[in-house]
Amino acid sequence: MAERVLSHKRLSSIKQFLYGSPYYPEHWDADVRSQDAQRMKAAGWNCVRMAEFAWDRMEVEEGRFDFSLFDETIQSLGKVGIKTILCTPTATPPVWLTRAHPEILRVDERGVRMAHGSRQHACTTGPLYGENSRRITSAMAEHFAGNPDVIGWQTDNEFNCQFSECHCESCQDGFREFLAEKYNGDLDALNQAWGTAFWSQTYRSFEEIETPRPNLPTHPNPGQKLDYARFLSWAVTRFQAEQIAILRQANPDWFITHNGIFRHIDYRGQFSRDLDVLGYDVYPFFTHDPAERVLNQCFNLDYVRSLSGNFIIPEQQSGPGGQGPYFHDNPEPGEMRRMVYTSISRGADSVLFFRWRTARFGAEEYWCGVLDHDNVPRRRLHEAAQLGVELGRVGPEILGTYVQITAGIAAGDFDANEAHDTLPFDLPAPRLTAQSVWRALFRRGYPVGCVHPADDLSDLKVYFLPHWEVVDPAWLPNLQTFVDRGGLLVIGARSATRGLENAVTAETLPGVLRGLTGMTVEEYGHQNHPESRPLAIDFAGNRVQSEYWYEVLQPEGDTGVLARWQGRYLSGQPAATLRHVGRGVVVYVGTYLTSQVMAGLWPLLQPLCGLQPLLPHIPLGMEVTLRTDGKKKLWFLINSTGQVISVPVPSGTDLVNQRSISGSLILPNNGVAVIKN
Ligand SMILES: [Zn+2]
Repeated sequence: MAERVLSHKRLSSIKQFLYGSPYYPEHWDADVRSQDAQRMKAAGWNCVRMAEFAWDRMEVEEGRFDFSLFDETIQSLGKVGIKTILCTPTATPPVWLTRAHPEILRVDERGVRMAHGSRQHACTTGPLYGENSRRITSAMAEHFAGNPDVIGWQTDNEFNCQFSECHCESCQDGFREFLAEKYNGDLDALNQAWGTAFWSQTYRSFEEIETPRPNLPTHPNPGQKLDYARFLSWAVTRFQAEQIAILRQANPDWFITHNGIFRHIDYRGQFSRDLDVLGYDVYPFFTHDPAERVLNQCFNLDYVRSLSGNFIIPEQQSGPGGQGPYFHDNPEPGEMRRMVYTSISRGADSVLFFRWRTARFGAEEYWCGVLDHDNVPRRRLHEAAQLGVELGRVGPEILGTYVQITAGIAAGDFDANEAHDTLPFDLPAPRLTAQSVWRALFRRGYPVGCVHPADDLSDLKVYFLPHWEVVDPAWLPNLQTFVDRGGLLVIGARSATRGLENAVTAETLPGVLRGLTGMTVEEYGHQNHPESRPLAIDFAGNRVQSEYWYEVLQPEGDTGVLARWQGRYLSGQPAATLRHVGRGVVVYVGTYLTSQVMAGLWPLLQPLCGLQPLLPHIPLGMEVTLRTDGKKKLWFLINSTGQVISVPVPSGTDLVNQRSISGSLILPNNGVAVIKN
């Protein structure tokens, strides 16, 4: 198979827009199940996902398999045209396995072993669990290989959602194996990379190395911590790859996905290259404030698209989620439909609602689905059915298109985020600071998204690299080309301060970015208690407060000063620099790109890049996106403002409401239009 190139513009290989839900026949008796296929068909379903937690039903004891429930269910759904995505059930090993082999259970940093009775209690690193994973995966793959109604697979379920930092014996062995491979068995290289000369940590053999555990008694080595995070990703990628190899061998026509996005997995690495398409579970109601909820959903979708391009949504929130201490708001009429369009507008190529019917028992018995506990059809089902009819028109049009953006933000890759977490210093993480920049542009109606610095930057007029402490020198030619061709590159404080092994660079800051920015950082400081010792930056008469961090900058050569500090001992010193490079410009800002700083900075940047909103005069809070295949244009207009609004729009056909549009459009709250032209 050809190596997959991950890009924010990568199309998915999904051939039919899939619409439906996860479905749990193991939770319901035959009488309740008997009406499901017809009801799903009436709601427009063409796909369900099944079996991710049903290992105990399918392998009732070691090596004795019973797939009859799923055979019967797949067949009854298939008869009405509903296809099935099956899952490997390895997030929930059965009790016969955990009792016989408690060594497969994960161990936390205090040495406490996990227990049977919830989920994600088994460690994916160990050989014994790997053997059991391969056995159930092989049995399922062989059994369903010839079933025409099974179209694809999801590996496991939400790897690392509940638990990722394991310290079991298998992880000790696995960590050493990973390190020996990474450092080619060269212990001196490891000691050098981690800086084990500090605190007498020098290792004499790989066998002496253990996983880093926090607060026993104090902070572990940052180099060791970053390599441990890389090991966790490597281990789960290997576990998944074994399942994928079995599935591909059984039936190469199946597509394979996984539902993220969680900690300690490099989704812009081998993990996603092994998949046909990445999945992302969308639960906006974890954000309580409705206005923030919209912003967070949009940003998170843009972030996920930056990892490997268009994606599918194996779980999209339909009702309130309730578990443990929380119970979400109930979506208001029109809200679940509108949230689906938001997902599609920002890169989703298929959507399944979590879930068909709310379970009456178990830890998620209040994680509500399209149908309530009593199986009575109510407005969530009616709304899903309306959407099913609309997506019959919209779905086929969006496949083969990508989301067009002209403003990009580096939102943090695996190394940037993990390195930050090893020494956070009470500073915002890369993904959080990227969201501040993203919001400043989104609110102004600009077509903004997230893009990795190694990715295709050719469509962008402006690109922000906010505060990545780890910057790979291999990305520099791509950034240089972007600027040479006329792009505006904006780099934030603390960039490129550490090397790939998480040790501080020996170069004068900003390290490998010094040549491109044409300046140096002469001095820096953390802004503790900024309310009592405020610092401001003067952006051409527009004075804004800085937060978190300050740097005193020294321009080199022909680099100019864009803004200066005001306050404390910094008054008059350069706070931001500007350098013309090729046909473009590089700006460096010596503080965090917060919303206040963006308010002062953007009026100076906009004329430098000429960025324009996707459509003029769009009200604040209105979502406007464009998906295109280079010829056809699909304009998404989504009203989450809480008001009825009138907006100027391009002329064309509204696929949602089946009408011709010319010039302007009135949209109610939660109203949606998808205009094709
Ligand atoms: Zn483990």
